[in-house]
Amino acid sequence: MDGGTSLDRQSAKRTRHIDTMAAPIFVSWQLTRDCDLACIHCCTESAPGKAMQGEFTREEALAFADELIAADVPYVMLCGGEPMIVPYFLEVAERLGRAGVQLKIETNGQRFSSEAAARLAGLPVRSVQISLDADTQEVYARQRPGASLTKVHAACRAVRDAGLPLEVTFAPTRVNIEELPAALARARALGAFRFNTGALMRIGNAAKNWRKLRPSDTQYERFRATLDREAAAGRGEMELCYLPFRMVDGLRQLLDEPPATLLVLPNGWVKASAPLSYVVAELRHCSLSEAWHNYCRAWQSPLLVDALHRAIADEAEHAAANSWQKLELAVCNA
Ligand code: SF4
Repeated sequence: MDGGTSLDRQSAKRTRHIDTMAAPIFVSWQLTRDCDLACIHCCTESAPGKAMQGEFTREEALAFADELIAADVPYVMLCGGEPMIVPYFLEVAERLGRAGVQLKIETNGQRFSSEAAARLAGLPVRSVQISLDADTQEVYARQRPGASLTKVHAACRAVRDAGLPLEVTFAPTRVNIEELPAALARARALGAFRFNTGALMRIGNAAKNWRKLRPSDTQYERFRATLDREAAAGRGEMELCYLPFRMVDGLRQLLDEPPATLLVLPNGWVKASAPLSYVVAELRHCSLSEAWHNYCRAWQSPLLVDALHRAIADEAEHAAANSWQKLELAVCNA
């Protein structure tokens, strides 16, 4: 484990962007591991009834929202699991949004109602991201057992009808990858401003089912060619977001400049990075400010940097992302 003195010496070597900041500029906050679906590729291994032990209560979640506001964090993503099944989800969104915090909501769209859209419409929402990674019910339900494509389309319409920005996400697997062209056309027709995709992440259920789910090289080549062609054609207003294509390419950039981002798990643990297993703070025992300080120091930790190098060298390492382990830094005095 790392000692504070050696970390402080190392951090004195050079100034990174995050060292100049008092707080993160983006917080990805998983409200729950509970979900109304149990997708075969789910990176968080969420499923019905699978709330994490010790998830925040309503009061704790609202108190954390107040901390984010007080720290002037400008942008927060509320996700899960499925945030719409959290009873206080809209309350948290409203607490943040009414204070001027910009929001992104990630939902599977199965229970995203017009009423929810109307409540969100008065807030500074930058994106409501809905999973639309197939264009036939049969394929959609194979990837997302129990899911209704009709409900997803209705959710997309509810977002647009409320004047909210619709973003669509497509997680490619061997099951659904051939439906990309139809999904692109559907997303465009539904009025999405962005189509978000990239290679399947080898985390959670995707890692467990990797041999069955990983698209073949030929499938990926066709997939990339379609995306490149669509991007070059620049049709309509929909932005295509698929680069860096593989997670490892994004990870290389972290070595020099870690993002000013905190990834908060439903029980208040703060992870250093999605594909790494290290927890750098526990918000039940740390203030947001302490968690941010720990995060910045963690990126000087040889343990974390070695783990990142391993994750870049071999994406099979990402399979351990949900086997959380605490860096010594995770301890706070609050
Ligand atoms: S991928 Fe999304 S919708 Fe599917 S189980 Fe995971 S959190 Fe739920």
